[in-house]
Amino acid sequence: MITSLNPATDEVLAQFEPHAGDAIEQRLQRAADAQALWGRTPVAQRMPVLRQVASVLRARKQQLGRTITLEMGKPLAEAVGEVEKCAWNFEFYADNAPAFLGDQVVASSATDSRLVYDPLGLVLAVMPWNYPLWQVMRAAAPVLAGGNGLVLKHASNVPQCALAIEQVFAEAGVPAGLCPTLLVGASAVPALIADRRIAAVTFTGSTPAGRSIASAAGQALKKQVLELGGSDPFIVLADADVAAAATVGVKARFQNTGQSCIAAKRFIVEDSVADAFTEAYVEGVKRLVVGDPLQAATTQGSMARRNLRDELQAQVQASIGEGARLLTGGAAVDGPGAFHQPTVFDRVTPDMTVAREETFGPAAAILRVRDAAEAVRIANGTPFGLGAALWTADLDRARTLTRQIQSGAVFVNGMVASDPRLPFGGTKESGYGRELGVLGLHEFTNIKTVWTGPVRT
Ligand code: NAP
Repeated sequence: MITSLNPATDEVLAQFEPHAGDAIEQRLQRAADAQALWGRTPVAQRMPVLRQVASVLRARKQQLGRTITLEMGKPLAEAVGEVEKCAWNFEFYADNAPAFLGDQVVASSATDSRLVYDPLGLVLAVMPWNYPLWQVMRAAAPVLAGGNGLVLKHASNVPQCALAIEQVFAEAGVPAGLCPTLLVGASAVPALIADRRIAAVTFTGSTPAGRSIASAAGQALKKQVLELGGSDPFIVLADADVAAAATVGVKARFQNTGQSCIAAKRFIVEDSVADAFTEAYVEGVKRLVVGDPLQAATTQGSMARRNLRDELQAQVQASIGEGARLLTGGAAVDGPGAFHQPTVFDRVTPDMTVAREETFGPAAAILRVRDAAEAVRIANGTPFGLGAALWTADLDRARTLTRQIQSGAVFVNGMVASDPRLPFGGTKESGYGRELGVLGLHEFTNIKTVWTGPVRT
């Protein structure tokens, strides 16, 4: 059974029989048939459907937000904000996809040569639970705008979110069957990737799962976009606005109960401002209100599953054993639910667990460094390369340093965040390919060169 469980109370909310055999076959065939028509629908006629998805999301944001909170434990206000962001993404593509998909005329020896953007077909989306609506809708809007269909295999702990997404598409008038949810476990994924009706895969999740999906997609020679884990650096240089960096840094680490791929995880701070930063940072963390995610006053909810809380706790314990200095938190919260205290470590060195591994929960590591060069060296000393933040008053120096940091994005004097207008993705073991923006749309198109003669002299 696929179980929906409230991680803040341990209460079982619902159970679902997984899809298998004929149920999967019928959904795939229906999606393929629907895509054949959708892909031939002129771009301008697809856009009102995207706009309608946004309207349904906005109209139902409270209810959808509650479903998110009940299934994975984030504070309700954050969950409602997540739904609004999904709506924004659909509006962004409804406004911009016609221009993004317009023919690109290229000068050559032909009378006319151009690039045209054709749909690929059905895109399999294997998605995580941490932003259970956003992760799916981030991919779905450009996939649909491009004339494709989306087959969703969501994380097994958010089946009600997965079904709610299917319902949103149905209410919005997305062609019947074009975006089915398959309630299946991870073991079903290789066969889905191999299925002739699946043209491409988009995956967001952990690096180990990404490796399996990349192998299966590689074997089948299918296009893939991988958005994987991260251990983002948040660099604070001596000339930075330290108070602002500390305030934003708390949000950057503890938002979504620390369960974000682009959360700041390693705070790399120049020695001369490290005491001031650390003091302000810990003060901010102590103001977080941990508790029932449905209550308006709560700013840190439950983690999404007990096993994830236990994994974080093991990393925290290992780091204490390795000599990291615990400034606040450090323990799981007793009682029902998967709560963990907001935790801050100082005097962390790059070899300690909390700096070496991705921590997917409310635990921050502060690493003190001599200068900007050491900060960049430590920032890059990880297999990951998703996002990075750099705080400095010297924007000329920032321009140089941003080029030295190995990551998919660098945010100067701000926190890393996704935005429909800006391409999003990683480098190194954080994955490849881009979502959002114009590139996120082109990823799932066949960029076709059309050459028309005769040759010009
Ligand atoms: P996960 O265990 O990799 O699961 C993500 C999805 O992949 C789920 O649907 C899961 O299905 C499926 N899955 C797991 N193992 C698989 C395998 N071997 N083959 C095929 N599918 C598999 O990740 P998670 O724990 O849910 O999410 C946290 C991770 O995601 C973190 O590492 C985080 O950094 C990363 N993440 C990255 C981004 C980004 O944009 N770069 C965004 C969010 C999260 P089941 O649930 O059925 O096991």
